Amino acid sequence: MNDITDDSFDSWDDSNEGDRIATAELILLLRRQGIRDARVLSALERVPRRLFLSANSHTLAYADRALPIECGQTISAPSIVALMTEALEIEPTHRVLEIGTGSGYQAAVLSKLAEHVDTMERYRTLMELAEQRMATLGITNVNFHLGDGFEGLPEKAPFDRIIVTAAAPELPQTLAGQLVGGGIMVVPVGPSGGIQELIKVRRRGSRLEETALCSVRFVPMVPGVASRL
Ligand code: SAH
Repeated sequence: MNDITDDSFDSWDDSNEGDRIATAELILLLRRQGIRDARVLSALERVPRRLFLSANSHTLAYADRALPIECGQTISAPSIVALMTEALEIEPTHRVLEIGTGSGYQAAVLSKLAEHVDTMERYRTLMELAEQRMATLGITNVNFHLGDGFEGLPEKAPFDRIIVTAAAPELPQTLAGQLVGGGIMVVPVGPSGGIQELIKVRRRGSRLEETALCSVRFVPMVPGVASRL
């Protein structure tokens, strides 16, 4: 169910006036940084980022910076979440695949814009935490999958949009093959631990149109499901 018309922030028991004010300030910052799409800004405004972080990061929850999460992974800076979400050009009827659930924050933002979100993670711990957060927030249009994002989700393909939130060593062709014609994928491509390029890919028949958006630094995509955690 698409709930972009609900003001669900109001119904969240765990968020408070402080979250609301800090989120509003963050949205102003994102606007100044050039995020123009009102639907994207509204989606970000309705997801309290603090609830996706452990207690020791709460004071930095609304700063525009990446922060550590469980399993040695990272939640992206809000400006990167906004940029990637805007680049996806999501419409309310869309089915979106996310690779790299992490905290679940990006998936929650996507849930406000798309009809349905499937999100894949290789750490069971992260997947289960994200699932709990989504339930707490009353978000019902996200499904969680433990698996290897390099393989995507062939049984549910094709997707209107795909977002990869870990760096791929090269353009993941299997995932591109799971896009509908005209579909868009946003993916950071480049070496682990180095500077990567955020690439926007549009599928045109069997051809892929690629546009480089900016330089980024993401944790790497790692093949296979994690055997521990
Ligand atoms: N989108 C997340 C941030 C993700 S960090 C958020 O909003 O918090 C990148 C995530 O990608 C990590 O959780 C990492 O475990 C996951 N990941 C890395 N390689 C993967 C793979 N092959 N398949 C699925 N997930 C992967």
